[in-house]
Amino acid sequence: PSQGYYTRRGGVGESGDFITSPEISQVFGELIGIWYISEWMAMGKPKTFQLVELGPGRGTLTEDILRVFNQLASVLSKCDVSVHLVEVSPKLSEIQAVMLTGGKVHPNPKDKSAYMNGVGKTGIPIFWYRDIQDVPPGYSFYLAHEFFDALPIHKFQRTEKGWREVLVDINPEVPDQLRFVLSPSRTPATQNFIQPEETRDHVEVCPEAGVIVQRLASRIEKDGGATLVADYGHDGTKTDTFRGFRNHKLHDVLSAPGTADLTADVDFSYLRKMAQGRAATLGPIKQREFLKNMGIDLRLQVLLQNARDTATREQLLHSYDMLMNPKKMGDCFNFFALLPHHRLVHPDKKDKPESKSPLPPVAGFNELLLK
Ligand code: SAH
Repeated sequence: PSQGYYTRRGGVGESGDFITSPEISQVFGELIGIWYISEWMAMGKPKTFQLVELGPGRGTLTEDILRVFNQLASVLSKCDVSVHLVEVSPKLSEIQAVMLTGGKVHPNPKDKSAYMNGVGKTGIPIFWYRDIQDVPPGYSFYLAHEFFDALPIHKFQRTEKGWREVLVDINPEVPDQLRFVLSPSRTPATQNFIQPEETRDHVEVCPEAGVIVQRLASRIEKDGGATLVADYGHDGTKTDTFRGFRNHKLHDVLSAPGTADLTADVDFSYLRKMAQGRAATLGPIKQREFLKNMGIDLRLQVLLQNARDTATREQLLHSYDMLMNPKKMGDCFNFFALLPHHRLVHPDKKDKPESKSPLPPVAGFNELLLK
């Protein structure tokens, strides 16, 4: 809590340790904003919703989404929208406050479980929390972009004697350096987190992500809404993905703890399992397919036409390439959604399949159709 990376450093952005899609291009956040509006429409335009973002970084993604909400104010006109940010880093919450409210925030609002609140530039109320459990219940659209990869993992290695947990130890020979050791016997984690049908020899599990997905799925089941998760990850196939980044370069995860971003690929098959059938799941689908379905090419064309100079045009093309190129972020980043079951299948479909109009497809995972 006091020496951790996000408490002390938390360097998202060009001048920090790693760069994320919303920091590369405004188009990314705009298309995600459109995803929420499209789902809000498909779900019958409820009168109120909360936009809940987990780990908002510098607040750029929220800012881009709120700009879209403002541009489409006539569509959202009668809807009461509020923003709820789940952020543990004091430093990043300050940066978010400046980005979203111009710094006009109040600590510890009396009537809320939030630790800070303020009003966004377009008049939308914004609240900050340390834990998803503090966010009030209610119809909500959740967002987790490069959030789950930041949570701690357990590592396991298959050995001749069975599964062993990979633990972190102090290296007695080198000061300020840690080392990996194998547990001498099975640990409680090896018993709880390795599936009997596991075929890999090395496995990483993020139980905290599992607990959060359980909470999200329960909330969606009870109060309605949807969750969009975007992160680099795999569908239960990869093995050793735990890495450190500092100043945009790979950094040994075992040296100078607390000074580098530590990250592990998200296992979407685990997230799907942890939804426990309470919510339906879609994906993972590659970022380049999701963004293409959301209309990124059309948006790029409009921005290119409106660009005043060559430098802006080049910048637009460069950031498009970063997001979409399979060798850059296009293939390794994935989108995954949790939705109420009735969003995908009519509750009475089995009895009277012909009596209902078809449900609109979920944008991003299919082509966007805005009616
Ligand atoms: N979504 C942003 C930032 C990603 S970095 C972007 O894409 O640019 C990860 C974010 O999660 C940071 O804001 C970090 O402070 C936050 N974070 C890390 N661990 C967290 C936890 N346990 N609870 C809440 N937020 C956390």
